Amino acid sequence: MTVRLRAHHLLCMLTYVGKGYSPAFVDNYEAIAARLSAGEEIEIVDGPDDICAPLLCGAQPHCLGDGVIERDRRAAEAVGALLAMPVTGGTRLRPSASLLLHLRRTFAEGDIRAACSGCEWSGLCDTVAADGYVNARIAMAATDEPTRLHGRCQT
Ligand code: SF4
Repeated sequence: MTVRLRAHHLLCMLTYVGKGYSPAFVDNYEAIAARLSAGEEIEIVDGPDDICAPLLCGAQPHCLGDGVIERDRRAAEAVGALLAMPVTGGTRLRPSASLLLHLRRTFAEGDIRAACSGCEWSGLCDTVAADGYVNARIAMAATDEPTRLHGRCQT
């Protein structure tokens, strides 16, 4: 099994703290966070993904909108440049401790956040990053390096 993520959710997963659009959305996200924390591989997809799933039964889910597609494009470009690899449909990534730490450090520095422009959750994500991700729900999955960030242990 893989966790299917659209590109901008590579950023959102870093700051997920159990808040979301609805109880069903959060319940589903919690299950995905657990799978990622266990090290399950990520497969990048174009368009709606496993996180979007509970929202797709709405009348006009924003997951299909042009703005979200542009958010994916920006995130794929930024993360791809950071990791020196293409991030596109079919790309696979293992959410190791080192990958999450690298992404979280760079996110906190603001260097991969072009995709966040205009996002309603941006203030929350700013706070989560500024607090060293102490309440982030996706834990460091592997033990391939120390998991300390901004002086705080990642859980
Ligand atoms: S600001 Fe929005 S797009 Fe950026 S990581 Fe947070 S939830 Fe995702």
